[in-house]
Amino acid sequence: MAELKLSGIGKSFGPVEVLKDIDLHIDTGEFIVFVGPSGCGKSTLLRMIAGLERITAGTLEIDGVRMNDVPPASRGIAMVFQSYALYPHMSVRDNMAFSLKIAGKSRAEIDAAVARAAQTLQLDPYLDRLPKALSGGQRQRVAIGRAIVRDPKVYLFDEPLSNLDAALRVATRIEIAQLAEAMPDSTMIYVTHDQVEAMTLADRIVVLADKGIAQAGPPLELYEKPRSEFVARFIGSPA
Ligand code: ADP
Ligand code: MG
Repeated sequence: MAELKLSGIGKSFGPVEVLKDIDLHIDTGEFIVFVGPSGCGKSTLLRMIAGLERITAGTLEIDGVRMNDVPPASRGIAMVFQSYALYPHMSVRDNMAFSLKIAGKSRAEIDAAVARAAQTLQLDPYLDRLPKALSGGQRQRVAIGRAIVRDPKVYLFDEPLSNLDAALRVATRIEIAQLAEAMPDSTMIYVTHDQVEAMTLADRIVVLADKGIAQAGPPLELYEKPRSEFVARFIGSPA
């Protein structure tokens, strides 16, 4: 269970302001999709939520607790990186176990968590393989598995399908939707520039533009009642 509250969140890199005055309340179990043009700050916002990037203005709260200065490992958040971020010299099992080993978990806890994740993601047959012996979709599942083993309250996905080919992208998107359904208490925040992904996965889409939120709402609402031409174009509403 985790609700997130972003209040007046902003980000500057030196003198350059990238994000400004982001106010957003995300409920437990919600699937939120951030969309917006390249360079609008989607990854930066995700990285601030994860604690990988310093928040330069405003407050991030998770379940009512201020998180601005809490280190990433203590936020109850896991970020799913693109599959090429797997450790190439480690087996699937060791890739998934790695963060738990670092965290000092016992062998039994690690084995149980890896077994659970492997089952959820149908990776059992591949546990002893190296990433290079997997398909792109299987690799992406391992990347998700590395998050699942930590049993986070919040999952962050930054364009997880962008380096997959078209067919695999559809299959993996459906798997992510199933995963979200199987974990209804987990809050998911997903970044993409793909309208189809946004429309099919989101409970709520947040359109980012001009450093802030252009519009936020359920997919159908944004599609039918875009508040600006920019949002209409982005969501693909009929003109
Ligand atoms: P998006 O993910 O929406 O494509 P990013 O969050 O990656 O956008 O980047 C938003 C803006 O912030 C871009 O203009 C980018 O150049 C800038 N930016 C991102 N990271 C840094 C950094 N570490 N230092 C300086 N500028 C950065
Ligand atoms: Mg990005």
